[in-house]
Amino acid sequence: MAVVMSTRRVSAAAVASLVFGLGAGLAGCVDPPSLGDNQHRVSWEEFRAAVYQEPDSGLFILDWDHPIRGEAALHAYWSRLQPGALTIYNNGADVAWSAAQKKNLTYCVSNGFGGNKNAVLAAMVAATEDGWEKMADVDFIYRPAEDGNCTAANPNVVFDIRPVNTSGQYLARAFFPDSPRGDRNVLVDLAAFDPQQTGGIPLANIMAHELGHALGFRHEHVRPEANAAECYEDNQFRPVTAYDSASVMHYPQCNGTSTPLAFTQRDREGVALVYGPPVVNMPPMAQVTYPGDGATVPPTFTVETSIVDTDVARVELHVDGAPYGTSTTPPYRFEVVGLAAGAHVLELVAVDRVGQTVSTTVNVTVRSGGGGGGGGGGGTGDDRAEIITGGCQASGPDTPTGAGLTFGLVLLAGLIRRRRAA
Ligand SMILES: [Zn+2]
Repeated sequence: MAVVMSTRRVSAAAVASLVFGLGAGLAGCVDPPSLGDNQHRVSWEEFRAAVYQEPDSGLFILDWDHPIRGEAALHAYWSRLQPGALTIYNNGADVAWSAAQKKNLTYCVSNGFGGNKNAVLAAMVAATEDGWEKMADVDFIYRPAEDGNCTAANPNVVFDIRPVNTSGQYLARAFFPDSPRGDRNVLVDLAAFDPQQTGGIPLANIMAHELGHALGFRHEHVRPEANAAECYEDNQFRPVTAYDSASVMHYPQCNGTSTPLAFTQRDREGVALVYGPPVVNMPPMAQVTYPGDGATVPPTFTVETSIVDTDVARVELHVDGAPYGTSTTPPYRFEVVGLAAGAHVLELVAVDRVGQTVSTTVNVTVRSGGGGGGGGGGGTGDDRAEIITGGCQASGPDTPTGAGLTFGLVLLAGLIRRRRAA
């Protein structure tokens, strides 16, 4: 990458090629979009230092003759060149939390969840402490003392999380930062607790998606790049950076490429552009995106993952407690070959450059009978033949009810897609 950053003028095209070039070879229909190597990005500091600033006018000059006034505008320009995802709600201005509010996003979890409450609490930890808070300088704060009065009228929290029973009309719905307190709720349908109805989307990822809306992010598939006219909502958004078909905010059935709605590296970069990166080096996030926990698989299959961090050193796969493989480059994918019939434990371990380690475990059963599996290349992944995806639905800002924006992760009964093995 021969971009000379020492010249006083920087070509945007050159920066774009530097930023995007490394990941290009990894693109493919089943690959999650790759960001290439984080080490070779042009940081804001590098970019800022390399841009020529006219001594008299103070203007920054880009692309030889493109003037930009002010550091904020220059930062916005740099942001647009970065790979990343997420699409912020914008109705003339970005709809996002202020610097003070973003660090104090308090919530309660209604006792009305009953036996499902622990699942909600665990999903919220995954979506906040181990999710958005690892990617950006935001802080969701749980206020358990409010759980007994966790209603839309409770003024002691920013938002409430409550159960609803819509008979599966949606899995969950949320709000945007400009919603009035009464509308600032995350409503979780009973269907969200039923794996048969979620289509394999873990509750943690459903909550992560809903909290994405709570942070101001629109569905990624509203963007024209999704080529999903049936998922059109409105045009009140601002693309933060490049389109990401695998974003946590992108529904699979709207031409998305992430069935379990895992976070992506682009989600991390996008939210950091809006709210700033975390103030400390956070441990990686690691998810097995295939196979799902409890899945039945053929003896030979591909383990697909989503690893999100700024400084991933390596990713390991352990099978039944024994090291099976190590990967140091995205997309951190592992081929498991000829596993014996029966129950097995897959453990995914991600380690960053300062040694911070996270692991996640998935239980699978290799089917007996000698069928399936085998074969080279394209033979993997055939157990994914049928995937019930969640649906998408939105009532836009022009909703006549005036109830504000509510976005649901909607279950479309009968929307069963047959997905061919790659
Ligand atoms: Zn949504």
